[in-house]
Amino acid sequence: MTVRAVVCGAAGRMGGRVIHQVIAHPELTLSGAVERADHPAVGQDAGLAAGAEPQGVAVAGSLAEALDGADVVLDFTHPEASLAHLEEAAKAGCAVVIGTTGFTDEQRAAIEQIGPTTRSVVAPNMSVGVNVMFKVAAELARLLGEGYDVEIVEAHHRFKKDAPSGTAVRLAEVVAHALGRDLGVVGVYGREGIIGERKSEEIAVMTLRAGDITGEHTLMFGGIGERIELTHRAHNRDNFARGAARAARWVVDQPPGLYDMQDVLGLRD
Ligand code: NAD
Repeated sequence: MTVRAVVCGAAGRMGGRVIHQVIAHPELTLSGAVERADHPAVGQDAGLAAGAEPQGVAVAGSLAEALDGADVVLDFTHPEASLAHLEEAAKAGCAVVIGTTGFTDEQRAAIEQIGPTTRSVVAPNMSVGVNVMFKVAAELARLLGEGYDVEIVEAHHRFKKDAPSGTAVRLAEVVAHALGRDLGVVGVYGREGIIGERKSEEIAVMTLRAGDITGEHTLMFGGIGERIELTHRAHNRDNFARGAARAARWVVDQPPGLYDMQDVLGLRD
């Protein structure tokens, strides 16, 4: 079987690596690539634009020009563009894989409404390691229970536009859920000044931005006299891109629904 895939954000840091993984996947073929209309890559061969072999597929300036005959759209762009692409692909009956992060609550609500009308995977982190970390984080939180302060530290490259990272937010959500806390109430995203003692129920997420760090996340459970730290470090973007290609191949065979990487990797309880 050959699954025809369109990559949105084709000239981006992730889009280029996703194109490489689509080309390398035995059951995926690159049928289209999309950039914003004013991007210099529009009109170029998508393979060449990604630093790969030529693919005979020109980068289009809109998804509408690339959607014809596609089975799945892979999108790593920015929140508004991803939402528009989800809507457009769903209308065309095409499956969608979205890796973009930084959605507002309203945008997430829209994804939850539109996603299930087609086959869709939306996940802030597509690496196997991070998705296993989500699972282990929930288990650790349950086993440790109260009495351990939960702190998350994330570090990314200086070009990243959203903060904290979607992965750090998901880690916080997973731990909050495991501990029966409402992240909207207990989430802390920075500290400064005479803030008083830490409240035991806080779940804090701290953001670092420096140089070309691909992505690092540490989850700390700090007790009195000991702490546990769980760290994931991405060495490059290929593990995310490989996960996206795996999600694209998987989702086309599923019934309509909104899935995430826990479903793709068979990690859901
Ligand atoms: P980037 O800025 O390098 O790339 C985004 C690309 O999207 C740019 O080339 C931009 O021109 C293009 N774009 C913007 N609007 C568009 C439109 N309407 N149509 C088509 N293309 C459009 O960013 P990046 O580092 O590649 O990250 C992209 C997103 O992916 C971010 O939200 C990032 O947080 C997320 N990300 C997710 C994962 C994951 O595993 N889920 C991993 C890494 C990054």
